[in-house]
Amino acid sequence: MTAYPHLLAPLDLGFTTLKNRVLMGSMHTGLEETKDWNRVAEFYAERARGEVGLMVTGGIGPNLEGSVLPGAAMMTTDQDVENHAIVTSRVHAAGGKIAMQILHAGRYAYGPKCVAPSPVKSPISPFPPAELDEEGIEKQISDIVATAARAKQAGYDGVEIMGSEGYFLNQFLVTHTNKRTDRWGGTYENRMRLPIEVVRRTREAVGTDFIIIYRLSMIDLVPNGSTFDEVVQLAREIEKAGATIINTGIGWHEARIPTIATSVPRAAFAWVTKKLMGQVSIPVITSNRINTPEVAEDVLATGCADMVSMARPMLADAHFVAKAMAGKAAQIAPCIACNQACLDHTFSGKLSSCLVNPRACAETELVITPADAPKNVAVVGAGPAGLSAAMTAAERGHKVTLFDRADEIGGQLNMAKQVPGKEEFWGLVDWYRTMVAEVGIDVRLNTEASVDTLSGFDDVIIATGVLPRDPGIPGQDGANVHSYIDVLKKRKTPGKRVAVVGAGGIGFDVSEFLVHEGDSPTENLPEWMVEWGVSDPAVNRGGLAPDGPKPEAPARAVTLLQRKAEKHGKRLGKTTGWIHRAALNMKDVQFVGGVNYERIDESGLHVSFGEARENPTLIEVDDIVMCAGQVPDRSLAEALEAAGISHHIIGGADVAAELDAKRAIDQGTRLAATL
Ligand code: NAP
Ligand code: SF4
Repeated sequence: MTAYPHLLAPLDLGFTTLKNRVLMGSMHTGLEETKDWNRVAEFYAERARGEVGLMVTGGIGPNLEGSVLPGAAMMTTDQDVENHAIVTSRVHAAGGKIAMQILHAGRYAYGPKCVAPSPVKSPISPFPPAELDEEGIEKQISDIVATAARAKQAGYDGVEIMGSEGYFLNQFLVTHTNKRTDRWGGTYENRMRLPIEVVRRTREAVGTDFIIIYRLSMIDLVPNGSTFDEVVQLAREIEKAGATIINTGIGWHEARIPTIATSVPRAAFAWVTKKLMGQVSIPVITSNRINTPEVAEDVLATGCADMVSMARPMLADAHFVAKAMAGKAAQIAPCIACNQACLDHTFSGKLSSCLVNPRACAETELVITPADAPKNVAVVGAGPAGLSAAMTAAERGHKVTLFDRADEIGGQLNMAKQVPGKEEFWGLVDWYRTMVAEVGIDVRLNTEASVDTLSGFDDVIIATGVLPRDPGIPGQDGANVHSYIDVLKKRKTPGKRVAVVGAGGIGFDVSEFLVHEGDSPTENLPEWMVEWGVSDPAVNRGGLAPDGPKPEAPARAVTLLQRKAEKHGKRLGKTTGWIHRAALNMKDVQFVGGVNYERIDESGLHVSFGEARENPTLIEVDDIVMCAGQVPDRSLAEALEAAGISHHIIGGADVAAELDAKRAIDQGTRLAATL
């Protein structure tokens, strides 16, 4: 008897049956653009072996003007069909099913040739789109239909037509972007014409036994978005036009409400999909921030959808479904929704991977094989670098001993998990704990490793992490000055007015920690919706609350300082920095830049501005928290060096600048793969 009867139930589509209710949602990983089709095929085949019910590829362009970027993958030639056939045959051989997403980006296309219903420039692209004429619209339809036909030729089990997230078809639906007065604009019947026509003609072209998923924007989260009546009307027309399944899209890319970041509550939008249940007779998929089999099961058991889409969780663990089937859910590497190695990479033009699973999208390159000769390996430091090195080494058959002076594993992850909006880190530490036991690592906590302890091992890995940097501010020894460690470990509770020195990732985290009290909105969906101004699209167009975000009053008055004159948070994650800034802005955090720290006394922090140290100012606060970055902790490495014991240094102990868990885990895994 499984714990996930709804999730693991097959889904009969009439002409074919999906083996369970898990869809791997579309992700733009950049793999298709590498043109290494063996690598693309292995990425999907690995997930087919992991038993996912149906996969959707990254968005594939139907033509140049509709492609997300110049050089983005398209399906327009016989060669494209041949390339994609490598993927589909590998997936089918692994027992999986796969659909190709057709993505026409419209005004979101990052190129001068982009087209749209009306010449309304997107706030997230520098390129104003050209308005399509009747002939232009016909070309877009026939290009999309031809792409679907090619996908069928390439052996795909279906296509997903991207109609949400503010892309081309979505742009026709709402007056926000469709100002036309011809038969493609004006009334809702006219604005719906394009998506319906696309689905109708696609069905005509591909015949009956081929999956057509239509991704429909159920809550636009932009001004003048669709009402829920319009959503239902469109869904019914899309069903009539021949779609097999309707998938949920949440929010346009230009929306100023987070929809998938880690601070968004789990399954935060399943209630939106639920409103469509019973309104159409084809299966409906829900999506966004569903990352464990328990949450997915609950979403299905409570009637929110017929199927669940999980995208990033399939990067974190290709064997998500197989492990759920085997009753080993605790062994599923959790997606913590950080975006650091997936979406941040995509938006920086880099190939995606995953912070917790560096093998994602590197299946053919980072291969973990059994060791030729098992060794005795010591790893010092049970933070992300040490844990990943220890786990990979143990998986390969080495005998691993893991030392840490703390009384728990996790290192700095244990501080991250204290920050409101970063609760997913609890699951990550739990997963490491499970896996460390599973692969048989000998864990020695509360143990200070020394030269003597380490001298008998074949290989020694130093992952001792970092120490807080000393900013050397006169008066910093005062009782009103604390390290971020003391604050996040709750050894010190600052007063009501706090200055935070340093506005890096940790300065932002500490500020977030200080302005909250009580429940984290991430664990309280109604509160989170009020905080960000999300409402029911059946009540307010597009699901935007009429009076906007309404956060709780801040628990403390926080001033976040940096010496640089640049915008605060500029170096935070590409796709999440704006959320951290907006969250602190909502809590009235004062951003002060371009400062010199002059001194600290009982009245607070004295600063001046600019090279000439002008405008001396007292920031009157009760407490000051130091978040001035870190330096490597190499004391043990230096002692080993002096004793002539060879060792490897990884993680923050190697390079502290720009340290993050992504680099630490990647470095630890890669090193252990070579031992
Ligand atoms: P960081 O990002 O390097 O930031 C250090 C901050 O301290 C900077 O704002 C810097 O700004 C300031 N600083 C540097 N030297 C200083 C000095 N001598 N005196 C006073 N201020 C000084 O380091 P972090 O905040 O400790 O974060 C460490 C890493 O963890 C980051 O690289 C980040 O990737 C990761 N992390 C990320 C997140 C996230 O993305 N949400 C959250 C937590 C941690 P000025 O030089 O302008 O003063
Ligand atoms: Fe999830 Fe972060 Fe991995 Fe992306 S990088 S898949 S968000 S854990």
